[in-house]
Amino acid sequence: MFNGILINKDDAGYRAAVQQIDEAQLPEGDVTVRIEWSTLNYKDGLAITGKGPVVRKFPMVPGIDFAGTVIESSHPEWKADDAVVLNGWGVGETHWGGLAQTARVRGDWLVPLPAAFTSRQAMAIGTAGYTAMLCVQALEKHGLKPQDGEILVTGANGGVGSVAIALLARLGYRVVASTGRASEAEHLKALGATEIIDRNELAAPGKPLAKERWAGVVDAVGSHTLANACAGTKYRGAVAACGLAQGMDFPSSVAPFILRGVTLYGIDSVMAPQIVRLEAWQRLARDLDIAKLDAITREIALGDAVVAAGELLEGKIRGRLVVDVNR
Ligand code: NDP
Repeated sequence: MFNGILINKDDAGYRAAVQQIDEAQLPEGDVTVRIEWSTLNYKDGLAITGKGPVVRKFPMVPGIDFAGTVIESSHPEWKADDAVVLNGWGVGETHWGGLAQTARVRGDWLVPLPAAFTSRQAMAIGTAGYTAMLCVQALEKHGLKPQDGEILVTGANGGVGSVAIALLARLGYRVVASTGRASEAEHLKALGATEIIDRNELAAPGKPLAKERWAGVVDAVGSHTLANACAGTKYRGAVAACGLAQGMDFPSSVAPFILRGVTLYGIDSVMAPQIVRLEAWQRLARDLDIAKLDAITREIALGDAVVAAGELLEGKIRGRLVVDVNR
């Protein structure tokens, strides 16, 4: 038996609670992992509260990521005691996930825990941080350099935003952080933001083209914010879009793309191929100031994750939460 959060949906309603689960119920997979740490991402918030259609099979153990140690494996790449990390692949959505003490998954989904990180630090980064890295890599592959100008990061106090700020600052960029929480300005500056703007400046319907300001954008928010970010991006600049915290709509025009040559990159972490993941985790090991992340990471117990999921969606959580699944 092991402890895990189980989400049920039936005549009694949608509910999530910590339960004792029989190992015989674990889904199919060629690697069994003893989970040490998981985390709470925006998607986990949606899954646990039922506020978004994330979970496609019931009962479901949520948790789109985890870090832990292999217990047993019939996969050629993994053996007992290997330290591993998992992000995405539908885990916590269609396949039992990381908010539990044990998981059984496909070995093809795992990546090795980078030597630079403990399993707790890997989950402080989590899928949010790994996605932030994918966004930064998209801007780099576009050819952006620090001397090209300011980079806008939206959803700045969230997981993606916080890690994106820390990464970009370390790489020498001037980072402008857009947030609804002005009270966290000092914290964002400590992460590396050079300027803070109120997210209301970007949240309402805007013009097809605005004053050219951003060399690049990391957007975790979508909707009007993404549209305004594109409208304010400089000639031949780039926008990496990964999130929908404001909304899934994209009320934009083609003007930024056809008149300013702006490029919009779509970032998906869930089904990203293995080679992309390995590169992103190597880059995180090289370019993330992990001490900065440690400073914004808070530990919670498995049983606290259900309440914290609601707080996350209400924007009440700053930085990163790591979940000690054994507590
Ligand atoms: P968090 O909840 O940690 O952060 C989201 C942030 O967005 C909040 O902290 C808040 O920042 C801002 N925000 C919240 N609501 C609104 C709103 N109504 N209008 C404007 N801004 C808002 O989430 P994550 O950082 O983990 O994820 C961010 C987004 O990225 C989510 O939509 C998530 O689904 C998506 N995502 C996508 C992935 C992919 O593969 N494409 C992978 C991981 C995440 P502040 O308080 O500073 O304003």
